[in-house]
Amino acid sequence: MALHLGDYRIALDSRDSEANVNFISHAHSDHISGVSKGRRLIASSITRELIEARYGLRTELEQPPKGAELLNAGHVLGSKQFYVDDPVHGYSLLYSGDYQMVESAAAERIELKHADVLILDSTYPYPWLRFGEREDTVRAMQLYAKTKMENGHVVFGAYAVGKAQEIIRILNDAGITPAVDAKIAGVNEVYKRHGVHLDYFVADNSGKEQVLVVEGSRLGEFKNAITSRSNRRVFTAVASGWAKMYRFGTDVQFPLSDHADFQQALAYINACDPEVILTCGNSAGLFAKNLGALGYDARPLAKLSQFRQSSLLVCSLGSR
Ligand SMILES: [Zn+2]
Repeated sequence: MALHLGDYRIALDSRDSEANVNFISHAHSDHISGVSKGRRLIASSITRELIEARYGLRTELEQPPKGAELLNAGHVLGSKQFYVDDPVHGYSLLYSGDYQMVESAAAERIELKHADVLILDSTYPYPWLRFGEREDTVRAMQLYAKTKMENGHVVFGAYAVGKAQEIIRILNDAGITPAVDAKIAGVNEVYKRHGVHLDYFVADNSGKEQVLVVEGSRLGEFKNAITSRSNRRVFTAVASGWAKMYRFGTDVQFPLSDHADFQQALAYINACDPEVILTCGNSAGLFAKNLGALGYDARPLAKLSQFRQSSLLVCSLGSR
């Protein structure tokens, strides 16, 4: 998926061998396939730092072309939307990447702007799926951690970028200083440099870790390590929007998301007030269908043949 802007061909969160530059909305692995060592990126400086901290890739930043600007997406720290108002072609365009409308404890609040064409992420395309009040989820997480740590250990599994820092903030607000794994600690340093206060220490298997926040893929490893040196029970937990749909196999799961649910998506669309919505991502077809049922002009980006010849929007299909 790429945009043509003047002499630029800009790949949007995707790999595109013909692009001269990549826009990277944020530092999650499913959005950085176009990033390689030394690659020039249009991104926030925070995203550049997070990519280096999490994946060890040093990159260079490039200024957005004339007429383009980056807007906060509210998803994780440094996450951006790509906006362009092109007077030559006569319409404005906004690419969302991942976004959310509610304010997270560890990300900037989303910025909203009208655009004629909206390219919209389709992570949660289901009208029935609602995350509920964030405050309720936060209080439930705090109560669970405080209760279980009295007689045991609690290990939260999370993405190293974004969710881990939000969980740490939630625990800090309940007076808990969690232990974290080394990767998360590296990402935390970027957050701290940019004003997000986080209290934590790096897990060292000394036995003092009562509550831990570790990468989801290492949840079992840390559970086993603590179990082998403690006679107290080890409770496992995850915090994810997917908790509304799937069982994770942990002792508890909390529906804490950093994405928009369907209701948030409608609020976002209404604020941007686009003429056309182009959905992208794995559920693009279903999302376009469900939006169409409500009267929106929504189509999956990958099937939009009439835009393929446009000099502004070039669909290199299969998107991410
Ligand atoms: Zn993301």
